[in-house]
Parts: sequence; structure tokens; C-alpha cells
Amino acid sequence: MAQQQAVGVHLLSLVAPQDNDQQVMANLSAQLDQGRSVKVEVMARRHDGQGVWLDVDYQPVRAADGSMDGYVILAADITEQVNQGLKLRALFNALPTGVVVQAQSGAIVDCNPAALEMSGLTRDILLQAQSLATLRPNVRDDLSEYAAAELPTSRTLRDGVGLRGESVGIVFPDGDVRWRMVNTEPLTDAQGRPAGVVTCSVDVTDQRAHQQLLAMAVDGAGLGTWQWDIATGRISGNERMQKVFGLAPGSVPMTVDAWNQLIHPDDLEPWLRSVTAHLSDPLLPHRMELRVRRADGHWIWLLFSGAVVTRSAGGAPQRMAGVCLDVNAQKELESQLRQSASTDVLTQLPNRAAMLDQISRCIARGTAQPGYHFAVLFLDFDRFKHVNDSLGHSVGDELLQQIATRLQDGLRPGDAFVRTSDFSQMAARIGGDEFVVLLDDIRGDLDAEIVAGRLLDLLSQTYVAQGNSINSSVSIGIVTTGQAAADAEGVLRDADIAMYEAKRAGRGRHVMFDPGMRKRARDDVLLENDLRQALDKGEMFVVYQPVVDLADGAWAGMEALERWRHPQRGLVSPVEFIPLAESSGMIGQIGQFVLQAACAEFASLQSGQYVPPSVAVNLSRAQLRQPGLAAEVLDTLRASAMAPSQLILEVTESLAAQDMLVQATLQELRELGVMLALDDFGTGYSSLSCLHELPVNTVKIDRSFVSRAQTSDYHRVMIEATIRMAQTLGLATVAEGIETAQQAALMQALGCGKGQGYLYSKPLPADQLQAWINALPSVRPAA
Ligand code: C2E
Ligand code: MG
Ligand code: MG
Repeated sequence: MAQQQAVGVHLLSLVAPQDNDQQVMANLSAQLDQGRSVKVEVMARRHDGQGVWLDVDYQPVRAADGSMDGYVILAADITEQVNQGLKLRALFNALPTGVVVQAQSGAIVDCNPAALEMSGLTRDILLQAQSLATLRPNVRDDLSEYAAAELPTSRTLRDGVGLRGESVGIVFPDGDVRWRMVNTEPLTDAQGRPAGVVTCSVDVTDQRAHQQLLAMAVDGAGLGTWQWDIATGRISGNERMQKVFGLAPGSVPMTVDAWNQLIHPDDLEPWLRSVTAHLSDPLLPHRMELRVRRADGHWIWLLFSGAVVTRSAGGAPQRMAGVCLDVNAQKELESQLRQSASTDVLTQLPNRAAMLDQISRCIARGTAQPGYHFAVLFLDFDRFKHVNDSLGHSVGDELLQQIATRLQDGLRPGDAFVRTSDFSQMAARIGGDEFVVLLDDIRGDLDAEIVAGRLLDLLSQTYVAQGNSINSSVSIGIVTTGQAAADAEGVLRDADIAMYEAKRAGRGRHVMFDPGMRKRARDDVLLENDLRQALDKGEMFVVYQPVVDLADGAWAGMEALERWRHPQRGLVSPVEFIPLAESSGMIGQIGQFVLQAACAEFASLQSGQYVPPSVAVNLSRAQLRQPGLAAEVLDTLRASAMAPSQLILEVTESLAAQDMLVQATLQELRELGVMLALDDFGTGYSSLSCLHELPVNTVKIDRSFVSRAQTSDYHRVMIEATIRMAQTLGLATVAEGIETAQQAALMQALGCGKGQGYLYSKPLPADQLQAWINALPSVRPAA
């Protein structure tokens, strides 16, 4: 206000009474009347009518005698300051933050309505208090009570330093705790001396409750939390985050670079790509499963997800935050499931699906790369079904595991036993006792044959499972690149066909597939179907080949031989259908049919003029391994009122020598009193020296020896040695397949007791047998 405007106006005319507080005006008036000096802030009006705030200083002027002479009035325009102060006060009152001003003594000198509301106290009570702490107890985060001297306000009063973000809990009389986030600021006077403190509090009770809830949820879900300051590269995480990584706090610098190094090399790139994508477009979610290296060096799977939580005014991402979850267990389960889809549970070898997959790859490579070779070896354990049936499934399972182990060990890279060259080999169990070995990138068929040969050795060595020693050969069918079908299933099927050929050829060997086998396999399938109905349709019958005494030509017995008259094919040889009956599980029925027919025929012949001394029935390998064979034989003998000694059961040499179990069955039969004959002697593997170990009564010298006896010294000597040995052991001898009188004479000269062959008779149907008997020049009279 211009000074000259104030000159010459009345003492009080500066002040517009209506604009000012009545009290203030009355006071001023009274003071001036008494001639006192007065300093007052009042509202005045300018000439233009506008109100201004004046700081008016009335100073009495006195004469030398001390009498009142007048006033000097100094008026300063303080409108600006007053307005400022009013604004501040309005702000102070409207502030949602509680503000309390305290003097250096701690006495509360001012507070705003928010502070009153937050404390639940009246202004009077608050302003009388020496400190806030005396009104309500204050607690820390852990609910321990604050010592008055340790409250943020007290510390600032003492140290003159402002504090930020202090957490204080205020305990209300009802026990409720309200939480405050407290900032303090020291006050100083004009000289810079400490003059008090301003304390600002914000009620964070609700946020705190939310945070706690969130923390509980995060903790309960086992979530690690992380934050990343993009500008500085610093990261932070909760305790769980460190735990998930198995890290001791501080062991890895809390920088994004250091932590990125813990990510699996294969996952790092996709991870960085995902982060970058999310940073540039927040709509692209950042969520990923990745492997990280734990402190113990193991890789574990974690699920990370996060999002940008702070951006600059310009929208640039500043901070990302997120969670991470240990998903290792799920991942392991997933991989187990995946693996179990390709692994055989019992042996842990790859299964059929995995093998087919691999074969497909080889076929594709074979088409693309001339000169590349692979081979598929189909292995079948010749005696598995029997082991399973007779010794039980747990022994069977153990046997399969042992086979798998041998295969794996034998094929392991660097194992010289099977491995011949630098090609990769894989073994799989594709079902039952069927194993498949894939040889990848071999030089040619020879490699496959070498490996097959070695596998035959390796797998035919004795197994011991649960105290049982088990011997069996393996049959192997091989398909190599040259003959490979166009699809994996086809390759396996062909290898299976070749394996079947190996079985047909006598087992314990390997056979290379050739396409001609497919037709035979198809025929076998058809034949097998027909075989199933052959018994019911009455297509089976038994023929009898007489056995004679070489010394006098007398009737010495007969061998029952089975025949199948196939409606289209005519007579099918037992050499063809017996193996089929064995492999299809029909041998039990068929064997029983022959046994019963032979015994019945024997019984019916007994009512005739001549009594046959005995009847011989062939037993196949599968029959000999069927449990209950002895009981079945006994039943049949009883049914036809036969003495056990009148029945001869023929078994082949290789079969009888095979294992303890077969020998036990033979022993059982022997104990019944049944006679046992060793059929086809000379064709098997066991030597003469084994003869004494077998529980047999008769040795039948194979036709192949008899037919060569006259021309081959070796065969003749062998026959002679066999006969000597048999005589020594008290066994009877029969020469099979005698076709000529010379052969008969030689056999007799060599000491053989009996003979059988076309010279005497071809195998005859029952009705013709009687005619043969009647025509005999000399037969023994009935007993
Ligand atoms: P095997 O037990 O050695 O039977 C003798 C085979 O030689 C018979 O052939 C018989 O007909 C034949 N044979 C006999 N004398 C002569 C001869 O002088 N010259 C020639 N060339 N052959 C002669 P078959 O009947 O074809 O039987 C072949 C094999 O089939 C038998 O050999 C036997 O192991 C098996 N077999 C036959 N019937 C049965 C049966 O009912 N059960 C079982 N498990 N196997 C049987
Ligand atoms: Mg025989
Ligand atoms: Mg024979």
C-alpha cells in the first residue's frame, strides 16, 4: 500500500471495523485510548474498496514531560503473507495426514483435524498432553511397546534429524491397534536453534492388513517374489525366492546379470525374449517355465511370471515385479509320464512304441542316405512261457529283468562282448518275452550276424532266478536294410517272421529274413486257424508203426504217430503241425488225444489173439513242460486198464538233457513205472557221456545214422558206441528207419535189440495194423 495513501487519515480509519474481529477492534481501541503502543494485524480497505491486510504498529509519541503527544503509525501491507498463512492453515486442516506440532519441550502446540480423528482425542486433551505417547501406548511391528524416548518424534527432538517411513502401532483402549506410517521433521527458530518437531502420520492399517493377507497368500502358495529395478539392474526377492534357489542370502549378487547366469543355457534366450517382448508390449504376458541351477548344482524347474509395475511419466518401464514357483515335482511327474509312455515298466528298457519310433528314423535315413545300413534283431526266449507257467510269474519277471540287464550290458558302448564296431545299438522289450535290438549305422549284414551270434551265447548262459537255475536258448530273426519294409511295423513283423523260422529250424539260432518267409508265415496263420478246429472236426487220427525184435522179427511193440488229414491240403506232416500246435498252445489237447487214442488202441488189441508188448507215444517239448503231465498219463493208463510199463514215452535227446525241471518231470513219470525212450539219438547236442544221467530205459538211434551206417565209418562207430554204452547201462536199443534188410542185418550185428522202419511196415491206421499182425510169420503168443 502506498504510504502516502495512509497520511492524514484517522488513527483508526485505516481499519474497517466491519472487516475485523469485534474483539480485536475493541482491544485496539482501548489500548490506543490509554496511549499504549499497539501492534496489530488488521484488515483495511483501499480507496478502490479492495481489502488489504496491514501490520499496523501504533507507537505513542510523548512530550518531554511524558504527556501523550500523538501516535506514529507504521503500517505494512502483509496481505501476501496473511493469505499465504491462511492457505497453509486451510491445507493443514484439510490434510488427510495427521500433523502434530510439538515444542522442543515435547509439549503439543498444534495439530490438525486429521490428527484428532486418527487419535480419537479432542483438541483440548491433545494440546494439554506432554507427549503423544502419554495418551496411547505405541508399539513396534512385533507388537513390543515403544519406550517413549525411542518414538520417532522423541528421536527427532533429541537428534534434530527428520525420519521417514517409521512404522508405529497405536493401541486403542479397546485393544485395537491402528498402524501409522510416520515422518518427522525438526523445527528451528530464526537463529537455527532446535525449536520443536512436526510429526506427520498416515493410517496404513488397511494397507498393512492387505499386505499381510497377500504375504500369507504368497507364503502359503510357496511363491517366491521378486522385483527388478530396470535402470539399475538391481533385483530383490523374498526369503522364499532365495530358498527356491537353495541360495544363502548374499551368496549371489542381487543383480539381474548375476541371476540370469543361474538360468539353464537352453532357457536363457527364450526367457530374455519373453522379458523383452513384455517390456515393449505389456499386453504380452511374461510367464515361463525354466530350469535354474540350484546352489547344489542341480537343475530345477521354476515357473516365473511377472509384469511391469512402475513406469516413468513417459511410459518407459522402470520396475518389474513377479512371483516364482517351484514346479520341479510337477515337471518330474510329467517327464515320468512321458517316459513311462516309452519305457517298459518291468525292465526299464524302451518299449515297443519307442522302438518303432527309432526304426522309423532308421528307415527314413536309409531312404535319404545310400550306403547307410541298419538291422533289427527280433529275440524270443525259447523257454519263457514254460518258466512262467511252471515257476510262477515272479520268477518269470525276474528272468525278463535279467535278460534285459544282459542285453543292456552286452550292448553298452565299449563292451567288447557284443560290440564289434562303432555303431549304436538299442535294446527294447516289446512285449512278453520278446526283445528287439536295433543296430544303427552298421557296415552291412555281417555285423548283424556277428552281434546275433554273440547275443545267442550271451543270453543262453544259465540264469538263476529265486533259486531256480534256468537254461534256455534264444531264437533271433533279423531284418536288415536290404529287406526292410517301408514302415517300422512291417520291419518288426518281418523280423518276427524270421524269428519264427529260427524256432522252426530248431531254436537257439538266428535266421535272416527273406520275403519268401512272409508267405509261409501267412500259411502258418491259416494252418493254425484250421488246426484249432481239426480235433473237433475229426481230422486227426493216429497211425501205428510196428517195432520188431531184430533177432527174430517178432512183434516188439508199436509207435503211435499222429496224422492230420486237412480237407484241402491233404495229409499234413506232424513235422509241420506239431511246432504249430506248440506255439499256439494247442499241444496239450493234441498230445492228450494221441495218448488216449494210443492207449485205447492198445487196450483193444489186448482182446485180440496177440497182445502187443507196448505202445510208444511221442512227447513234444511243450508237453513235457506242462504241469500235471504225470497225473494225466496216470488217468489215461487207468482208463484203458494198462500197466504203466506197457507205455513208452518218447522224448528227444536235447529235450531230456535240458534242465532240472524237465528231468524232474521225467523222474515223476519214471516213478509211475512208465518207460522212457530217448528218441532221435545222435541228432542232439549231448554226448554219449550224458546218457547215464538221463532217466530213460530205451535209446532210439536216429534214422540219419542208420541210413549212413553202411557208408560212413563215423556213423557206424557212433552207433556201435551208443549200443555198447546202452548195454552197459542196461538200456534197450531201437534202430529207427530201417528200410533194407542189409541195414537190419548190420544193426543186429552191431548189437542193436529192436528195429523200426519201412522194411517192416510203414505207420499203419489202426484197422490195417491188425492185418499186419495177422500176417507176421512169427509172433509171440498172447501172455
Ligand atoms: P519220430 O518220433 O522219430 O518218428 C519217426 C518218424 O520216422 C515218423 O515220421 C515215421 O513215419 C518215420 N519213419 C519210420 N520209419 C521210416 C523209414 O523207414 N523211412 C523213413 N523215411 N521214415 C520212416 P512222422 O510220422 O512223419 O513223424 C515225424 C516226427 O513227428 C516224429 O519223429 C515225432 O517226433 C513227431 N510226431 C509224430 N507224431 C507225434 C505225436 O503224436 N506227438 C508228438 N509230440 N510228436 C509226434
Ligand atoms: Mg518217435
Ligand atoms: Mg525218432
